[in-house]
Amino acid sequence: MLFIALMIAVLLGATWVGVRYIVRQIELVQVKSSFVSNVTHELKTPIAVIKLAVETLEMRRFRNPEEEEKYLRTILKESDRLTRLVDNILDFSRLESGQRALRLAEVRVEDLVSTALESFRLRLEDEGFHWDVDIPAGLPSVRADVIALQHCLLNLLDNAVKYSRDRKEIRITARARDGMVSVAVSDRGIGIAAEDLPRIFEKFVRVETGLVHTVKGAGLGLSLVDQIVRAHHGRVEVASTPGEGSIFTMLLPVWEGGQGSPPTP
Ligand code: ADP
Repeated sequence: MLFIALMIAVLLGATWVGVRYIVRQIELVQVKSSFVSNVTHELKTPIAVIKLAVETLEMRRFRNPEEEEKYLRTILKESDRLTRLVDNILDFSRLESGQRALRLAEVRVEDLVSTALESFRLRLEDEGFHWDVDIPAGLPSVRADVIALQHCLLNLLDNAVKYSRDRKEIRITARARDGMVSVAVSDRGIGIAAEDLPRIFEKFVRVETGLVHTVKGAGLGLSLVDQIVRAHHGRVEVASTPGEGSIFTMLLPVWEGGQGSPPTP
């Protein structure tokens, strides 16, 4: 009897493991195919918009210099968006294959934030956002790869814009905290439900809200931010309330002079 019971238990266990494996594989296939369709959609839209704007300019189908300026801004904005998507995908595959090593140096947070804002200003202005920056004087520098961190900040800003509705307000704050420096991006957007928070840093994950179909994305941004910040020996925190907004905080190690060789993510 004991032997039969044991056999049944083993069989049930094996079946359970098998079923879980198959379900996981099916999920992976679904996730990959939705990733491909999301990326294709994200690539096609800006290309179509750029083409239309260039055609309009080429045929001089604008009424006044302001309209001409508007089309030029559109081209710039959409090519920025394309660049960010391609950078995300390239960075992602380099991080996955371990080919991307960090080039760590002393980085002033003020410089990091102002450069990111400089390249994002057009988008914020065009979408009608108000933004403010709160960085206290005398904040320690961080030990960082400036290009990788710019990329993180741009991804957080991009999300803040994408997931905001009527209250178009963004704030960037930096503080010294627990021997590290925090850099936070807050918005007054749709927020994230508590049960979804643990999953948002996983690759290809997009939260199933009503907005997901209207807001473009590939589900890579936050996964990259998390990987890059962890490679800096830092961490990312999120606080969010549905309907109120979200705060994404990157905690980064302070620069303490010419430290050893950079870690590989
Ligand atoms: P993507 O924006 O391409 O979908 P991300 O990895 O950047 O992918 O974000 C994953 C998910 O986390 C998003 O689909 C969205 O549901 C949620 N999210 C990220 N940032 C915000 C934010 N600032 N406000 C609300 N939801 C957010």
